[in-house]
Amino acid sequence: MQGEIEQRIAKLRQQLQEASYAYYVLDAPLMADEVYDRLYRELQELESDYPHLITAESPTQRVGEKPAAKFFSVKHNIPLYSLENAFNLEEFAKWQERWQRVLPPLTLPYQGGEPDKETEIAPPLSQGGLGGVSYVCELKIDGSALALTYENGILVRGVTRGDGITGEDITQNVKTIRSIPLKLNSDNPPPIVEVRGEAFLSLAVFAEINREREQAGEQLFANPRNAAAGTLRQLDSKIVDKRRLDFFAYTLYLGAGEGEAEPRELRYQAEPGNEEVSVKTQWESLELLREIGFKVNPNRKLCYSLDEVREYYEYWDVERQNLPYMTDGVVVKINSLSLQQQLGFTQRFPRWAIALKYPAAEVPTIVEAVTVQVGRTGALTPVAELKPVQLAGTTVSRASLHNSDRLALLNLHIGDTVVVRKAGEIIPEVVRVLPELRPQNARFFEMPVCCPECQQPVVREKGEAVTRCINTSCPAILRGSLIHFCSRDALDINGVGEKLVQQWVDRNLVNSVADLYDLTAEKLMNLERMGRKLAEKLVGAIEQSKSQPWSRVLYGLGIRHVGSVNAQLLVERFANVEDLAKASAASIEGVCGIGPEIAQSVYRWFQVPANQSLIDRLNAAGLQLKSEVKNQQQLGSSKNLPFSGKVFVITGTLPSLKRDEAKDLIQKAGGKVTNSVSSKTDYLVVGEDAGSKLEKARSLGITELSEAELLSILAG
Ligand code: NAD
Repeated sequence: MQGEIEQRIAKLRQQLQEASYAYYVLDAPLMADEVYDRLYRELQELESDYPHLITAESPTQRVGEKPAAKFFSVKHNIPLYSLENAFNLEEFAKWQERWQRVLPPLTLPYQGGEPDKETEIAPPLSQGGLGGVSYVCELKIDGSALALTYENGILVRGVTRGDGITGEDITQNVKTIRSIPLKLNSDNPPPIVEVRGEAFLSLAVFAEINREREQAGEQLFANPRNAAAGTLRQLDSKIVDKRRLDFFAYTLYLGAGEGEAEPRELRYQAEPGNEEVSVKTQWESLELLREIGFKVNPNRKLCYSLDEVREYYEYWDVERQNLPYMTDGVVVKINSLSLQQQLGFTQRFPRWAIALKYPAAEVPTIVEAVTVQVGRTGALTPVAELKPVQLAGTTVSRASLHNSDRLALLNLHIGDTVVVRKAGEIIPEVVRVLPELRPQNARFFEMPVCCPECQQPVVREKGEAVTRCINTSCPAILRGSLIHFCSRDALDINGVGEKLVQQWVDRNLVNSVADLYDLTAEKLMNLERMGRKLAEKLVGAIEQSKSQPWSRVLYGLGIRHVGSVNAQLLVERFANVEDLAKASAASIEGVCGIGPEIAQSVYRWFQVPANQSLIDRLNAAGLQLKSEVKNQQQLGSSKNLPFSGKVFVITGTLPSLKRDEAKDLIQKAGGKVTNSVSSKTDYLVVGEDAGSKLEKARSLGITELSEAELLSILAG
């Protein structure tokens, strides 16, 4: 165990060091920041559990990277620390508890606040306040930190953060940034002023730089932060000038001299003879920075309670999408400078500030095992069983690995550290493996040659990525088809879940969907936790399903490629099952919206004798296998409806309507909804994140409709 931990620590250090070098020195990151942050956190936690394993060169013991040799190194008068991270509000609350333990807030006098609030008493802890302490919330600008020194009001030096102790002198480059004043706007500046802040690139400029680099065949910058850092460290200041860097100031030290490691109360006299201004808070520092000529981010807020911090954090999580620059979180700082001074610094961070980051879209975790699921079509899906991890607000412990091609591409071993992402915000998937973190005993995962459910050999057809079990009596396939048949969009049989289906199959009570209609309350009552009442209710629900329309039955049969849209299209052309069963593949393909693959699949399904007898049994049980007469009449009169004869495709997420709702509205207005865009499509209804369908529709010159346009046509 100890050996394994040492191995993991060594590998994490190696990986983080490589990533950190690529990020800070080469400005070309190897991984997403969120992945780096989580691996870093894992190393920190391991080191805190096993402190004897900490070494001086561990990435947790230092800030950033050593300055590059191409610039002169300059020692910072005051170390330029990094910030501690909190990944959610719970971690933020813990940080708050930590500093409050050091300084019991109830004993503190009121320390901060806007100038006009100075006499106000902030709410005490008992009322959800901070007991006399206020925070300044600022946006965390995703750029590169700079320390600027002004002597007698004139900019003399601009230095990067480097490793926090020593940075690179990039004064010439800094002078090209228009929002950095070369001279302070003050007639009587203190002899030495140090200003710190973030140099950054707007998203528009970032995109432009990358466009130019692409044209020149150069490697693209991964994000605006790396582009800003790379630009600042250009040897040719003319290039820097062209790249239009920007700067937000956020820290002010007046009279900062060698060794003066902490901020303190500031005294400032703007003009000779004027009254001396006393700056006691971060909030006032920001105001003063603005007055002496700096650009200060306007989106800051003074907060007096955790709730106010939460409000700010949540508000900017949404609103930051509309900002012209990148932010990756918010920075919360204790407002009072004297309280900052009392709290001081750890080796790497100030104790009085924290970066509250936004939830990650990608996180690393460990694959503990791989299981294989068999779906209703017999498809074998490998699933990674993961060490549980928080991802976009939920705990993820399983992720699909799709198929053997994907497995081979990932070269996945059990024990690997992998990066997981939420695909389309719903299903987690493994995006990549971090092979550097692979333990020595990791084992490559190979797809089984037999079905894990029925032990029969599996097949993988030529040109297909999917491995399938083709045993029609495989219990997993049967379970999957029963669940599908009873699902909401199919026969909608209430009360049928995985556990119940498992019992039906295990006890040989149900061997096909047709057997459902032979179930009686007495038979069901032999099952676990099934009383008479429940059994009768279930039989009632099964009975009721007999009135579901023909399109739902067709969908419920689970024929490959026949989703609910295609089932509806087929039913409109083939009014009863007999017609469909004897139709040729060509005539099925003649239905608008049905392509050759779907047509073949439907045709082949009806050729199988077992499927024909299934249809006979469903017919005998009294299910609807033909369109109701009423439906036919409706179709007849549909010529007068606004969309009659028009073919629609829906793509992307609509602002308010669900897909099914939009489909329903279109169909009620006489239109048809198909899945793919072709020359037969009349309209494309477009929502957010529309993909290739939109491109195809544009290339075919198909009319696009927004949800609002669709609704307004429907409203007449
Ligand atoms: P950080 O970016 O998490 O936070 C500290 C920095 O925030 C400060 O130095 C400052 O530059 C900046 N900042 C922005 N707005 C601010 C404000 N209003 N007030 C104060 N500071 C503000 O920490 P870091 O030490 O600069 O970098 C570490 C981070 O870099 C990691 O958390 C990771 O996300 C990223 N990183 C990524 C990789 C990778 O491979 N992708 C490698 C190394 C580091």
